[in-house]
Amino acid sequence: MAISNSVFQLSVWVVLIFLYIEYSPVKKKKHLIIPVFVSHEGCPYRCSFCNQTKITGTEKKTDKKMLKETLRTHLKIFDFEKLPEKRELAFFGGSFTGIPLERQKYLLSAVKPWVLSGEIQSIRVSTHALFIDDNRLSLLRENHVETVELGIQSTDDEVLKLAGRECPFDVIQSAVTRIHAKKFRLGLQLMPGLPGDDEQKFQKSVDNVISLKPDFVRIYPTLVIKNTGLFDMYQQGTYTPWNLERMIVAVKEAVVKFEQAGIKVIRVGLHPDPSLMENYVAGPFHPSLRYLIDSRIVRERMIKMLRSLKQVPLSVTFRVPSRRVSLYLGHKKENLSIIKNIFGLDSISLQQDAINDHLELVAS
Ligand code: SF4
Repeated sequence: MAISNSVFQLSVWVVLIFLYIEYSPVKKKKHLIIPVFVSHEGCPYRCSFCNQTKITGTEKKTDKKMLKETLRTHLKIFDFEKLPEKRELAFFGGSFTGIPLERQKYLLSAVKPWVLSGEIQSIRVSTHALFIDDNRLSLLRENHVETVELGIQSTDDEVLKLAGRECPFDVIQSAVTRIHAKKFRLGLQLMPGLPGDDEQKFQKSVDNVISLKPDFVRIYPTLVIKNTGLFDMYQQGTYTPWNLERMIVAVKEAVVKFEQAGIKVIRVGLHPDPSLMENYVAGPFHPSLRYLIDSRIVRERMIKMLRSLKQVPLSVTFRVPSRRVSLYLGHKKENLSIIKNIFGLDSISLQQDAINDHLELVAS
């Protein structure tokens, strides 16, 4: 009895500590990325799917004053003690290393005082593999850039040609080798569903990206945005975007592969900013796309567990991490009803576990 009492007390403390860490008012957001858009600056061409001005709602060319305002706006919303541990400024929306050298220096020098004062710790840039060489990387290194993101979109030559952004895979490989050699963190971006793309080509692109060993990836399903080449193709009937279900299935497979390779997928889908929503025309957009995909992944894991049983009981219970319970339930609890139907179950329930982070089949 004494033992079970102390076990009970210990469990209560563990739960209380978890709740404190999870919901404490002083809990900090871990990573703040402050985006600054250099729309289309440095781009070697205008890719058919891209209109940064429309996606980001940024018309004006960034100068020191705008940079300062952006930094102030993002940092002032935090009390000093709640500032995220990692704070970075990101130059997005163009091909940073393709921008004329003097302008790159101007932008980087505008951020320098904020790095020196410790208000932000580093800079990240997104750019194009065509503009990576040792001199350009050295300039970034000398100016507090720690992360380089490359838009890859696809590694299929035909898909890239149709998207108006030809770039042979060996150019990407050589850019990545140089980025790794200079010890930058590397992020790569993929865009399933471009003209000429299909599931096989997309999975080949995923495998190629895994072979490049990035630290993280972003996946942006192709959408039709106003005033782009893709919009013209869509209007002429020469391009049909993938539907949401097709995209979920393809991206789900990619997310599982990246996870197995130990590569973080830090973003799936564009953020539903008002400027994007005003200019979005068609394609597999969903404000909670990542949730839908992750929820599908855990559903398949539950199904696999049940299939591995010699005999599936009529009632089953899964123990699931409490912070991810909504994923396991699925949209409108569809995961439970789908599994129930597949196996002809009388009942299925989820038991929340505040401590462990894995899925377990606990009772039948
Ligand atoms: S996708 Fe990248 S390289 Fe192409 S136009 Fe847009 S910002 Fe420029």
